[in-house]
Amino acid sequence: MKDKTHKWIDAANILRHNINAKVICPECGIGNLTVKDELIKNWPSKIDRYIICNYCGKYNILTMNKNNDSN
Ligand SMILES: [Zn+2]
Repeated sequence: MKDKTHKWIDAANILRHNINAKVICPECGIGNLTVKDELIKNWPSKIDRYIICNYCGKYNILTMNKNNDSN
């Protein structure tokens, strides 16, 4: 069985390519993960992508390039 960290990484990889993908929360296994992008002050080429469970509220933050979803 994968640990939660690996599940979050998998989820991030899916949502990196398709922010509308339905991904079950690694923490509670009930909610779906939703995505919210935040600009980073003083770092205009990057965004923080918050991956948030709509059920339990757990989240992880993925920092990524603003204009290039491949990284
Ligand atoms: Zn959850």
